[in-house]
Amino acid sequence: MLDLLIRGGDVVTPQGVVRCDVAVAGETIAAVAAPDALPAQTAQRVIDATGLIVMPGGIDPHVHLHHVWIKPDGTPLITAGPEQVGRAALHGGTTTFIDFAYWRDGASAREAIETRDKDFVGKSPCDWAYHIMLHSEPPPEFPQQLAEAIQAGYPTLKIFTTNILPSRSGRMIDFGDIWEAFQVLAREGGLGVIHAEDNDIVMHMYAKLIREGRIDFAHMAEVHNQLSEDLSFRRVLRLAESVSGTALYMMHVSAGTGVAAIADARRKRLPVYGETLHQYLIYSSDDYKRPNGQIYHTYPSLKSQEDQKALWMGTTNGSIHCVATDELCCTLRDKTLGKRIDDTTGGNSGVEPRLGVMYTEMVVRRGYSLSQYVDLVSTNAAKIMGLYPRKGAIAAGSDADMTILDPTRRGNVRAADLHETDYTPWEGHEIFAWPVTTILRGKVMVESGRYRGSSQDGKYLKRKIATAIRNGPAL
Ligand SMILES: [Zn+2]
Repeated sequence: MLDLLIRGGDVVTPQGVVRCDVAVAGETIAAVAAPDALPAQTAQRVIDATGLIVMPGGIDPHVHLHHVWIKPDGTPLITAGPEQVGRAALHGGTTTFIDFAYWRDGASAREAIETRDKDFVGKSPCDWAYHIMLHSEPPPEFPQQLAEAIQAGYPTLKIFTTNILPSRSGRMIDFGDIWEAFQVLAREGGLGVIHAEDNDIVMHMYAKLIREGRIDFAHMAEVHNQLSEDLSFRRVLRLAESVSGTALYMMHVSAGTGVAAIADARRKRLPVYGETLHQYLIYSSDDYKRPNGQIYHTYPSLKSQEDQKALWMGTTNGSIHCVATDELCCTLRDKTLGKRIDDTTGGNSGVEPRLGVMYTEMVVRRGYSLSQYVDLVSTNAAKIMGLYPRKGAIAAGSDADMTILDPTRRGNVRAADLHETDYTPWEGHEIFAWPVTTILRGKVMVESGRYRGSSQDGKYLKRKIATAIRNGPAL
């Protein structure tokens, strides 16, 4: 007996878009079959998806939940956790996210994972995983611990090449330690996930703008600028080239210079992948001047409209593979507390509208195929991060994570309709499709706007990076 049969939808499969039925047994997809090949009476429940799009659940490879941020007055702010953000993600059709486990304060990699588990286990309605986030002054035994973590199913290491803000220390990793880390990643089959900015350029621009009295956050793009992205991407990619087998995923690419650096590395057959964020694709630094302009910001920063064009180009020419959120969910009040270039909150509240907004921008406005769209919001993240084909595919044997999109649902994004927080950077943004049903491992989590999930539903996903992803520029 099947548990669920989804009939008559346009299903985005690894072989393309096919009108077919999807059968679910337990937590996995049992079959993808020709329409009506499986009689309805063989299933406990039938969902009629006629006229709807059935796609793999969204995957957001870059979120920060239950994250501590220091407010301008020096007090800590803890952002919304997996219960709240996971629920919003499911409403928006995303079933899996990847957050970070902070490896610092002399702790071991194992302790970093166990500490982070306290924020997630029993609290996440979405499936999740962590990138291990290395902090400065890694312990002398870090190569051994990193090797063990990779083998234990935690194969991605987050590395910062900048402290981002002058007031902050402890994030930036020096190039000697990065070199060491790359050797371990290459040897053990890991993947570096990189926040690259040129710390000298960024800190120089902070000092310069503060000296000149140009401290309003609207100047952010002058600080976290294109040159910084150019120099830092090329330096880190050159280092990767020197350690054969180093695979890298460049996070939140924001400038044309970053896109070009990735393209050059891939031309040299390096296994390098790019991520951008949906606000970088839609907003530019001009939007900082709008009321509450901080809501469009995350670090590095929004750039020019020319950069935006280059990012869009990257999504079609193989330099940008994933559109993530860099989710950091807080209230409008907290998001707009900082007003200076050196105290404005990063992160973004966008996990819920990501699929709907990107459908509009990609499929409706730019003519991307449904498969291209699904690659950018789900499948590529699964492939790069070692989750495919368990996640990111509608195929027999895959987890039954599916989102049913209604392409006749027109309207505008309203924070009041969302489940995330009290504002959205996409307020008023036109929508041409919206998820009506979200399924996680066979369980219907959201249907017709009703939430049926629980914070017990999510599972941690151990991962292994595929050989094809590490061997050269796949995808
Ligand atoms: Zn981030």
